[in-house]
Amino acid sequence: MKYLRSLRFRIMLVLLLIGIVPIVIASSVIVRGYKSRAIALRISHVKNQCEVICSSILSEDYLAEGGKSAVIDSQLSMISNIYNGRLLIINGAFKVIRDTYDIDTGRTSLSKEVITCFQTGSGSTQYDDRNAYIEVTSPIINPSTFNVEGVLIASVSTNEIQQNARHLENQGIVVTVVSSILVLICGFFISNILVRPFAEVTRAIEDVTDGYEDEAISVPAYIETEQITDAFNRMLARVRALDNSRQEFVSNVSHELKTPLTSMKVLADSLNGQEDVPVELYKEFMSDIAQEIDRENNIISSLLNMVRMDKKAASMNFERKDVGELLEQVIKRLRPLTRKREIELIMDPYEPVEADIDVTKLSLAFSNLIENGIKYNKDGGWVRVSLKNDAKYFYVNVSDSGMGIPQDQIEHIFERFYRGDKSHSTEIEGTGLGLAITKSAILLHRGVIKVTSNEGKGSVFMVRIPIVHEE
Ligand code: ADP
Repeated sequence: MKYLRSLRFRIMLVLLLIGIVPIVIASSVIVRGYKSRAIALRISHVKNQCEVICSSILSEDYLAEGGKSAVIDSQLSMISNIYNGRLLIINGAFKVIRDTYDIDTGRTSLSKEVITCFQTGSGSTQYDDRNAYIEVTSPIINPSTFNVEGVLIASVSTNEIQQNARHLENQGIVVTVVSSILVLICGFFISNILVRPFAEVTRAIEDVTDGYEDEAISVPAYIETEQITDAFNRMLARVRALDNSRQEFVSNVSHELKTPLTSMKVLADSLNGQEDVPVELYKEFMSDIAQEIDRENNIISSLLNMVRMDKKAASMNFERKDVGELLEQVIKRLRPLTRKREIELIMDPYEPVEADIDVTKLSLAFSNLIENGIKYNKDGGWVRVSLKNDAKYFYVNVSDSGMGIPQDQIEHIFERFYRGDKSHSTEIEGTGLGLAITKSAILLHRGVIKVTSNEGKGSVFMVRIPIVHEE
């Protein structure tokens, strides 16, 4: 059953149909043509002969009682010999006066053909295919009176024509069988050659799967195989890119998690390595260690947040909520961070807008943006949050008066673990995961996020999210 579905089998089938059907049609047309032509010829011959005999019958006055004629006899026996036929001569009294088979001589013949022939003066022809004979009925017409004086019936066998036709038919069958075998043999080889490139594609893909081959595969034999291998190469490139980014991610995570541990180890070792350490130094080092523990904690909770964002859109929990209220709550939670550095955190006046949002994920996204605005700001600066909407979208802008982002870094800030140079040098705490999380959350809402920034002056993060979430 599996073989029936294979390309090879279908190629063989097509070749067989193309090779055999015309032969079958041609041989049946030839046999039929031969048969009908041979029969038509025979009828016309017999008719001619009958006409000749009819005129001899008249000239020899054969129809008269007891008529005898050597000429007629020889003509009759000639025809009956050539065509293996039977001839009957019937006179005006419907009496059979001559039967070459000598069966019906002296009897009365009232067959339909004879009566019609006497009545209309025209002959008739019948062909019986099943019994293989032709019957030609010819009137014997007196040329001076135009009277039908008798009827000549010639029945000739068509056995020989049918035998010839059968012979031709047999030859046709032999030709069909021989060419079928030839087509099958050729088809086997041709289909093997034609499907070989596909087998090569399979082998190349298997080699890649088994790990023998690292390169892009190529089977340029057909456009189709080239398309398959191109598509496969694209998929392979994607899988490799995913694999690379997974590896990079794992190594980044390990590195980020190790850094606080290394610091703690250094701090603890230096305490352990000293004799009579003053209590103040202990306290200082211990508070440093506590800071590192906090950092480790931050990284782990950011990672957990990110893993949650990575889950498919199906894990989204959309509800219709007031976006302004959500922003107010985020700002309220972050306000303590602004106090020490006298940063002004302002929410611009807004019109309430309700939208389909996942409150937890979107709070986290806006919280990251506003927290960054505070973190990367100067003392006494400001962070401004605005909310606007139109019929389709709501727009949230978070602007700050901070240090800004250099142009060459803007394209990287949404990458996982990316931290700007200044964040390192000024030792602002962070994991480099905040904006990656923010972007995933916004994408899960089918929104977009953009940044514009002026180094030294500040940055604006612009978010646009559809009010109605469509699947
Ligand atoms: P983190 O803040 O933990 O470093 P983020 O992913 O939140 O990580 O930000 C990535 C980088 O983008 C930051 O290290 C910082 O250099 C830059 N950045 C983000 N927000 C701002 C901002 N408001 N002003 C200046 N730089 C910013």
